[in-house]
Amino acid sequence: MYDVIIIGSGAGGGTMAYTLADTGKKILILEQGTFLPREKRNWDPHFIFGEDGYKAKVEWIGPDEKQPVVKPIVYHRVGGNTKMYGALLHRQRPEDFTEVQHKEGISPGWCVGYDEFEPYYMMAEHVMKIHGNAGEDKTSGFRSGPFPFKAFPHEGRIAEVAQDLSNLGLNIHHSNLALNRDIDEPWRRPCIACNTCDPFPCMVHAKSDAETSLIRPALKHKNVSLWTNSKVNRLVEENGKITRIELEKDGVPMELSADIIIVSCGAINSAALLLKSGVANSSDQVGRNFTKHNQSGISAINPDKENDVIFQKTLGCHDFYHGSPEHPYPLGTIQLTGKAHYTRILGDYSHLDLSIEDAKRMQRLAVDFWFTSEDLPDRKNRIEWTDKGIKFNYRPNNRKSHFEFLDMFQNKYLRKAGFSEFYRSTKELEFTWHQAGTAQFGTDPKTSVLDPNCKAWDLDNLYVVDASFQPSQGATNPTLTIIANAIRVAEHIKTAWFAGDKLTTKDFPLSDGYMADNATANIEVTARVAGDDDSWGA
Ligand SMILES: Cc1cc2nc3c(=O)[nH]c(=O)nc-3n(C[C@H](O)[C@H](O)[C@H](O)COP(=O)(O)OP(=O)(O)OC[C@H]3O[C@@H](n4cnc5c(N)ncnc54)[C@H](O)[C@@H]3O)c2cc1C
Ligand code: SF4
Repeated sequence: MYDVIIIGSGAGGGTMAYTLADTGKKILILEQGTFLPREKRNWDPHFIFGEDGYKAKVEWIGPDEKQPVVKPIVYHRVGGNTKMYGALLHRQRPEDFTEVQHKEGISPGWCVGYDEFEPYYMMAEHVMKIHGNAGEDKTSGFRSGPFPFKAFPHEGRIAEVAQDLSNLGLNIHHSNLALNRDIDEPWRRPCIACNTCDPFPCMVHAKSDAETSLIRPALKHKNVSLWTNSKVNRLVEENGKITRIELEKDGVPMELSADIIIVSCGAINSAALLLKSGVANSSDQVGRNFTKHNQSGISAINPDKENDVIFQKTLGCHDFYHGSPEHPYPLGTIQLTGKAHYTRILGDYSHLDLSIEDAKRMQRLAVDFWFTSEDLPDRKNRIEWTDKGIKFNYRPNNRKSHFEFLDMFQNKYLRKAGFSEFYRSTKELEFTWHQAGTAQFGTDPKTSVLDPNCKAWDLDNLYVVDASFQPSQGATNPTLTIIANAIRVAEHIKTAWFAGDKLTTKDFPLSDGYMADNATANIEVTARVAGDDDSWGA
């Protein structure tokens, strides 16, 4: 019998483990995947953008005959999707917590506001070692302290593009990155600011992902254990509580129980688990209102300018977050991706049938912009559980303003900044990277699945802490909000269940990370980890 069982080891589950670890309570993390091995191909673009690339082999039933099958790009590993993420973590804007009118509908407000989230954003920025320059991003809300680390500077060509766009009147800011690097004294921390960060796993474990920053530090506490290869199939309810969970560990069926069950399988798998268990759904809202953002890339070329940057992902622009003079409705965010290798370009622009030479030329010249706009919650956009598995019933919406955004930025700014060739791709159903909204929190049990502390209204001991809780997600990258919310929920559990204290940033110290100062602690941990296949790193 455990005190707490956490299902899923990604951003939400990892944060719960990290924050509850010092309670001394018996905590078990269950992860269906294994550790992602540390090996040279972590940084091999041919492998990463090839057939395998550490992707989970998953198929869902698609929304209709036009797309009967969806093969999502997802990663089932210790650390979840954060193992491959771009590590650009920013806060939602204060307005994202309120109702916002969009071109094609309404983005609903939340039952807690930005002010309530702010202290937890501070703690999340500490634990994820965020870099940034406070005050640069004019749309961001109040901060009660500086960023823990100063921003990554722009390299050569990107510094030039930042200047060109600033000259056109834009507020260009430095990206908020979650990487364990000391900008002034790089020998102090492991990150080498390389060209294989987004979307690669970090071979030297310098990316602040859920494994390196949350799960491994949690495992230093002797009361915390992790079982890999352990897939939860059903939650069993008796008298308003989850009394048992059914799982398969290394393929062998078994059952476990705990006082508190925390579900954090990602917004799609969490909804599927609740639906197939038939729990927490008296509102009939589980799985509905799924959102995933509208996302597109533009690779922009000035044929006279080489882009030989190594670490590209340093530039951002939020000037059009709430709209523009010609667009009185939200448009979204602009970032850069990691510098795209030609193997990635061939995949991203497969609809253009590029030759390898064309793709290599793009690698040499292009600056790779990335645009994110909000999609809107719709009851009919839903995850369903069927006897053949997950049905992914999603149709994109609110796209007109997204495409207006791309046209406007390309024509009004990129052309004037000297770019003359543009390649575009819009991400379709396989890209569920920013999945959210399938078990929303709220104040009314008839219309929401979770209460404001993310406890299921229908159950006394079940919490959901991935992005399922979000009624809407603005146009910011989601992970900092998932982590901040999970800290908020962990604080509630600490105080309400374990008579613990409230949290402060002191509970999230800026250590060098486990690789630098805790290697032996991990060797002790190895003996307590069941189901691990390989790769304890260090
Ligand atoms: C390529 C890529 C780039 C991204 N870039 C960014 C970025 O720059 N910034 C940002 O903010 N976000 C980014 N994201 C999104 C980010 O990764 C997610 O927001 C984050 O991982 C969500 O955390 P989570 O805890 O909700 O779920 P996940 O990270 O998906 O973790 C869920 C875990 O639960 C496990 N699991 C699922 N079902 C079960 C079960 N039944 N039993 C046991 N275990 C189970 C899964 O295997 C998985 O490990 C990116 C994602 C991808 C894929
Ligand atoms: S060394 Fe730094 S830049 Fe390179 S993959 Fe790791 S975290 Fe990213």
